[in-house]
Amino acid sequence: MNWDEFASWSKEIADWGARYHKTLRDRPVRAQTKPGEIAAQLPKSPPHQPEDMATILRDFDAIVMPGMTHWQHPRFFAYFPANAAPPSMLAEQLVTTVAAQCMLWQTSPAATELEEVMVDWLRQALGLPDGMTGVIQDSASSATLSAVLTMRERATEYASNRTGLAGAGRLRVYCSDQVHSSIDRACWVSGIGQDNLIKITGTSPRYGMAAPALDAAIKADLAEGHIPAGIIAITGGTGVGGCDDLAATLEVARAHDLYTHLDAAWAGAAMICPEFRERFWQGVEGFDSIVFNPHKWLGAQFDCSVQFLRDATPQLNTLKIEPEYLKTSGDVVTNYSEWTIPLGRRFRALKLWFLIRSYGLDGLQARIRNHVSWAEALAEDIRAIDGFEIVTEPILSLFSFRCPGDDAIQQRLVDAINDDGRIYLTQGLFEGRKIIRVQVGQFDTTREDVMMVRSVVEEVWQAVQ
Ligand SMILES: *Cc1c(COP(=O)(O)O)cnc(C)c1O
Repeated sequence: MNWDEFASWSKEIADWGARYHKTLRDRPVRAQTKPGEIAAQLPKSPPHQPEDMATILRDFDAIVMPGMTHWQHPRFFAYFPANAAPPSMLAEQLVTTVAAQCMLWQTSPAATELEEVMVDWLRQALGLPDGMTGVIQDSASSATLSAVLTMRERATEYASNRTGLAGAGRLRVYCSDQVHSSIDRACWVSGIGQDNLIKITGTSPRYGMAAPALDAAIKADLAEGHIPAGIIAITGGTGVGGCDDLAATLEVARAHDLYTHLDAAWAGAAMICPEFRERFWQGVEGFDSIVFNPHKWLGAQFDCSVQFLRDATPQLNTLKIEPEYLKTSGDVVTNYSEWTIPLGRRFRALKLWFLIRSYGLDGLQARIRNHVSWAEALAEDIRAIDGFEIVTEPILSLFSFRCPGDDAIQQRLVDAINDDGRIYLTQGLFEGRKIIRVQVGQFDTTREDVMMVRSVVEEVWQAVQ
């Protein structure tokens, strides 16, 4: 393909993209495909002869698109959002076109410096203190793993990267029972182990861990000769939005000199609205590490996960490695690959720059405020359906409900709703019971889209009983 053809196909794809987004409301949100249906349409072996782009794109429309779930559909209420606001898509087009590897300052100075400035813009937007720095990672899972590795190294006086964990004793990490599975996996792959991740049962009203129970667990471990390494708190758990009391958690961490990480992957975006900080963000400034995903609610296209660090030194002492071929001479600069596990890095800051400038913080705040108030209104509407129960009240824009009947009927209702296609919801488990989750957060969703959930739920419910 030559560059003139490239330009012409790029225009074609841009037009296709606009058409796609303008007609999204007419499509079923979740792919209505059976397992194996897409693969069956693909040749078993790669072609030997070149094929032209027109044919490839035709197959994309005919084979691939019917098997896509539409995450940018305005009636996507499942999981958490994975928004891609149009300006962030444009930035990604530029990034993929320039295609730089941004591992060191000198491998693209603009990428590093824009990243430093974007992290600082977001630090201010989220009400975090001066002096916090940070890095953009691919996912919250990677940021959490970096923090858990830092806990491990710090607790072993930075010896375990060298010596391994044999003879190190049992390192312990603490969290609530509302944490995301990425916390479990970080403990698996860091060598700490699931058995040494101590989950403190969350308590009402926001399902956070009780500080006295946390403190007691740490003291019991110390009495057993175990080695407490760190605490992971959460603001906005994936199940029902569970939130720890940050200030109380930090107090326990300080008493035992533990490293602290806060997972605010989803809810962090809402902290650009100062009015939510009172309830969800008090004490945040004391955390050693905080992760928040602009690629969820804020609108930056996946992948874009910001990890803020109160002091980057412990993480750099954990992850920095400098073989000869990566050495750079001269000025003191930030080489972001030293902050993370992968060496290679994409230019992720550009989409934040495009996004924040295009909407301004005011525009982004307005969306989040709408989502929260529409979710609250919808919860009231669903409560009013005969026999329906709101199981967990809205935390920001996430709540859960149940229809009358056992767990099996909850699942039947969710499946029937998603087969219907007008909206997309997912199930969860709360206190041993199946629940149906609703989160409002798609970038283009309207009040009308959100309020439609009630009528779809009610209609489908009539049919499944
Ligand atoms: C989505 C989510 C994660 C995982 O995020 P990735 O970026 O996909 O790794 C972790 N924690 C919470 C609370 C989340 O909502």
